[in-house]
Amino acid sequence: REAIRATNLCKVYPNGTEALKDVSLTVRDNEFVVVIGLSGAGKSTLLRSLNRLIRPTSGELALFGEDVTRVNGRRLKQVRRRVGMIFQQFNLVRRLSVLENVLVGRLRFNASPLRHGMSLLRRFPKAEREFAFDCLKQVGIEDLAFRRADALSGGQQQRVAIARALAQEPEVFLADEPIASLDPRSSELVMQTLKRIHEERGIPVLVNLHHIDFAQRYGKRILGMAKGELIFDGGCRDLNEEA
Ligand code: ADP
Ligand code: ADP
Repeated sequence: REAIRATNLCKVYPNGTEALKDVSLTVRDNEFVVVIGLSGAGKSTLLRSLNRLIRPTSGELALFGEDVTRVNGRRLKQVRRRVGMIFQQFNLVRRLSVLENVLVGRLRFNASPLRHGMSLLRRFPKAEREFAFDCLKQVGIEDLAFRRADALSGGQQQRVAIARALAQEPEVFLADEPIASLDPRSSELVMQTLKRIHEERGIPVLVNLHHIDFAQRYGKRILGMAKGELIFDGGCRDLNEEA
């Protein structure tokens, strides 16, 4: 099955920056893809277009056959639910517990947990809390469930973010520079976690990285971007030959 298809995708930011120039690509259901390129190449714009944090200027971007470039309202929320995403800066709610942060992944996207004074834990039935706990188990940090998010190391916080994305039961998993703020050991753990999710759940994973060594070790397929264009698409062996 085809998970993602970009057709002549372009993004021009309001200041005139062309972040994506006519990008076309296809990602299948069973792929683990690493997108590499220097800072400013357009990797983040490509990933953020998929959950519509960014709206492309022209072209098509299909997620399991549905063009997401023009969806709005309720349909847009559904699209975002299908896409699990993690970021360089984890984006956890610092003063909430780890388990509550994972439960955020179970909230409807229009609900803001911070607007309610009540504990998030009490707003979820037991089955939901167990589901969230299970997501923590999958990333190997269930023993930290009741710690405050901001008491954790960077690598642990990133795994909480992965668990939160898993709690959405996504159909595709995106990671935008997930290891850029982490030490080498935590980076390895996070990449292994992403790989395991891919293998166990059989869902496609796209990871933006600027470390070529990690890209070569983890990417079965590598997409290379430069100045908004897709300039390479192949296995890591092909990449060695080009380099
Ligand atoms: P990468 O993820 O590869 O570092 P980005 O997609 O973040 O690349 O950025 C691509 C280009 O678009 C860069 O030149 C960047 O400065 C520019 N850019 C990113 N976001 C914006 C924005 N909101 N407004 C204007 N330019 C932006
Ligand atoms: P990332 O960590 O994803 O690369 P950046 O640190 O480059 O993000 O950018 C942080 C924010 O600033 C993002 O929302 C991005 O869209 C925006 N941004 C990046 N480059 C520019 C730019 N040249 N002009 C305006 N906004 C930008």
